[in-house]
Amino acid sequence: MANDVRVKVTLSCTECKQRNYNTTKNKRNNPERLEMMKYCKFCRKETLHRETK
Ligand SMILES: [Zn+2]
Repeated sequence: MANDVRVKVTLSCTECKQRNYNTTKNKRNNPERLEMMKYCKFCRKETLHRETK
């Protein structure tokens, strides 16, 4: 694709620091770090997950 702004990001739990999710984001739509509530199987509850580099 000519203008590919999708980038791979890893989402890690902010509580236990485990990297639980791999996803992609649109850099144009989400220039900032992604943050989202996701289920963490290590914490066994929904926690805030944040993009890591
Ligand atoms: Zn966790």
